[in-house]
Amino acid sequence: MNIFSGLEKIVERNYPLARHTWYGLGGPADFFIRPQSIEQLKTVVRRCNENKVPIYVLGFGSNLLISDEGLRAAVIKLGAKEFTQTQYDGEQITAWAGVELSHLVLTCVKKGLSGIEALTGIPGSVGGAIRMNAGGNFGDIGAAVQSVMLMDNQGKMFEKSKPELVFDYRRTNITAKFILSARLKLAGGDCEQIMRTVKEIWIYKKNTQPLNTKNSGCIFKNPRGMSAGALIDKAGLKGLQIGGAVVSDKHANFIIAEEGCQSRDVTKLIEAVTQRVKEQFGIELELEIEIWS
Ligand SMILES: Cc1cc2nc3c(=O)[nH]c(=O)nc-3n(C[C@H](O)[C@H](O)[C@H](O)COP(=O)(O)OP(=O)(O)OC[C@H]3O[C@@H](n4cnc5c(N)ncnc54)[C@H](O)[C@@H]3O)c2cc1C
Repeated sequence: MNIFSGLEKIVERNYPLARHTWYGLGGPADFFIRPQSIEQLKTVVRRCNENKVPIYVLGFGSNLLISDEGLRAAVIKLGAKEFTQTQYDGEQITAWAGVELSHLVLTCVKKGLSGIEALTGIPGSVGGAIRMNAGGNFGDIGAAVQSVMLMDNQGKMFEKSKPELVFDYRRTNITAKFILSARLKLAGGDCEQIMRTVKEIWIYKKNTQPLNTKNSGCIFKNPRGMSAGALIDKAGLKGLQIGGAVVSDKHANFIIAEEGCQSRDVTKLIEAVTQRVKEQFGIELELEIEIWS
C-alpha cells in the first residue's frame, strides 16, 4: 500500500539524512518529504497520522545528530518557495520557517534594520532558530519575535503572540509540531553601524569556533553561571578522540566529525565527556544538540 499516493513528487523513500545535516552524518529516513504548500503539508500530516508514521521536522540540520540507523519516520522539510519567503513592512518583517538565517541577517543590514545581528554566524533556518531560541552572548532571536504562525500535529493552524510566547536560554514554550512563520519587530538604524556589529560578531566567532569543520555547534548547554566549554577544557578533554569524532582544540564544547566519522562515534564521545566532567566537577552536562534515533 502506498500511503503517500498522489504525493510521489514530494516524497522520497529511504532517503539519506546525512545530506541534510551540518555534521554530514545520519542514516536514512523511511520518508523524506518536501511539501510545496500549506495544503500539501496538511495532507502529509493527515496521511502520517492515518498510518501512524512519526513526524520529524527538519530545518538545516545544524543542531542535530541523527543516528547511523536513520529514522523509521517521515522527515519533513519546509524548504519550498512558499516556506522561504520574507515580507518586509517597515520595521516589521514576516519570515517563513525555511528562510536561511544568514541571508535574513544580511538583507536586514542592507535595509538598515537592526535587531537580529546576534544571529550572525549561526547556521540554520528561521524555524530551527525559533525552536531553539538561537543566539548567544550578543542576544537571541526570541527578543525580536512578536508572533508565530504554527501548525499542530493534526494539521490545524494557529497563531501565538507575545506575551503568551516565552523564550529562554535555548528554549521556547512553543510545543506545536510546525513553526510556519514568524513576525519580527526590528528597529531602524544606520546600515554601516549595523554592518560593523555584524562584522565584529563574525570575527569573534571565526576566532573562537572551528567553523571550517563538520560540527553541530555547541554540544552542551552552559550550566548556570558556567561555561560548558571551560569545564571540558579544564577536565583536559580537548583533543579527546573516539573513532572519527574529536573534541575541538579551538572550542572544547564543539565535537568535530573527521573523515570516516559515524554518528555512534559522536554519541560515544558525548558520553565520555559527560562522564569525565561529572567525575571531576560533579556537574551533569545537559545536551544543547538534539539526538534523533
Ligand atoms: C558552526 C555552528 C555554530 C552554531 N552556533 C550557534 C550559536 O551561536 N547559537 C545557537 O543558539 N546555536 C548555534 N548553533 C546551533 C544551530 O545552528 C541552531 O540551533 C539553529 O537555530 C538550528 O537551526 P536549524 O534550522 O538547523 O534546525 P535543525 O537543526 O534542523 O533543528 C533543530 C530543532 O528545531 C526543530 N525545527 C526546525 N525547523 C522547524 C520548524 N519549521 N518547525 C518546528 N520545529 C522546527 C527541529 O525539529 C529540531 O527540534 C550552531 C551550529 C553550528 C553548526
